[in-house]
Amino acid sequence: MSNSVVVCTWERGRAGVPAGAEETLTLARKLAASAGLELNWLVAGPAPDRALEIAGKYGVAHLDRIEDAKLADFQPDVCVEALAQYSKQHAPKLMVIPQTFNARLVAPRLAARAGAGIVMNALKLEVEGSAVKVTASAYGGDTRVVYEVTGAESCVVGVLADMLLAEAPEGGASAPAVRQVSVDLGAVAERVRVIQKAHFEGPRLEEAQIIVAGGMGLGQKENYHLIEDLARTLGGMAAASRPVVENGWVDSSRQVGLTGKITRPVLYIGAGISGASQHMVGCSAAKTIVAVNKDPDAAVFRYARYGIVGDCLEILPELIRAVKAQ
Ligand SMILES: Cc1cc2nc3c(=O)[nH]c(=O)nc-3n(C[C@H](O)[C@H](O)[C@H](O)COP(=O)(O)OP(=O)(O)OC[C@H]3O[C@@H](n4cnc5c(N)ncnc54)[C@H](O)[C@@H]3O)c2cc1C
Repeated sequence: MSNSVVVCTWERGRAGVPAGAEETLTLARKLAASAGLELNWLVAGPAPDRALEIAGKYGVAHLDRIEDAKLADFQPDVCVEALAQYSKQHAPKLMVIPQTFNARLVAPRLAARAGAGIVMNALKLEVEGSAVKVTASAYGGDTRVVYEVTGAESCVVGVLADMLLAEAPEGGASAPAVRQVSVDLGAVAERVRVIQKAHFEGPRLEEAQIIVAGGMGLGQKENYHLIEDLARTLGGMAAASRPVVENGWVDSSRQVGLTGKITRPVLYIGAGISGASQHMVGCSAAKTIVAVNKDPDAAVFRYARYGIVGDCLEILPELIRAVKAQ
């Protein structure tokens, strides 16, 4: 077992840098510093933009690269095999993965292959003696649990990077050594074939500065246009709570929350949304939250800087008129 913690990524991400990589490097760096572990970053597949610069910023010792044509596009079987072979060669104490959708397909299988413990939804990492302590979000974001992984020699951890901030250490820069890691992926036959790729275009909710979200208080699908109208008028994006998506009023790319998008806008307006913790996880980092709800005791008012108690079907048109009049 080597004394290392390795952050693992395999996609370049939309911005050229894997989603959550910097937040996960922040968490792993703190652990490495406190537990005396070496911090490494394994990049499987296409190299992210500025990989070396980012690695240096977070004090990474080795930037490990697995290059193989099979890793050009994400394929779970291939990715698990590549990471499992890396784990066998380098035996890291921890393999820490930003918990993207694809990471959920990889992390548990990697742990099984490596005979490692596994904890998902992690927010904090510590090492105590030979045990790894992981603080993770649990019960749909309602509470936090501290897991102590004691039985296994190594541990795979999925990190809720969206809920963390990227903080590069001051003066902690390093000059990482690049290591080419050779793996044999020749025998891997991918079992899942992508027939048609999901096509995303336009701005992403996670990057929006202004979000107007609608909940079940809208009453019916036909009223959702009020959310879209206000969002458009403010130059923002329209979003929704999960039941609104489940009812087919809007598509799932609009869902905010634990099982949707984690957003950090400057302004979040929630209309007809109760404020369930699973929803608020996706918007409580907003700078200003404005809530419209007809129930003065709705949980959403606990998070809101400005609250309007009333019928959103009356208030939304007024807000649209007021913004247009400006
Ligand atoms: C594991 C798990 C994951 C989940 N993930 C998510 C997630 O990612 N995102 C998410 O949103 N939810 C998620 N949920 C569901 C979550 O718990 C809530 O059920 C959901 O957020 C409620 O949506 P809502 O507020 O739109 O609807 P409701 O709970 O039905 O609330 C509607 C609100 O509208 C108000 N209202 C009614 N009429 C009006 C009116 N005319 N004007 C103004 N206000 C009105 C009511 O007072 C009420 O507060 C998850 C749940 C679980 C268990």
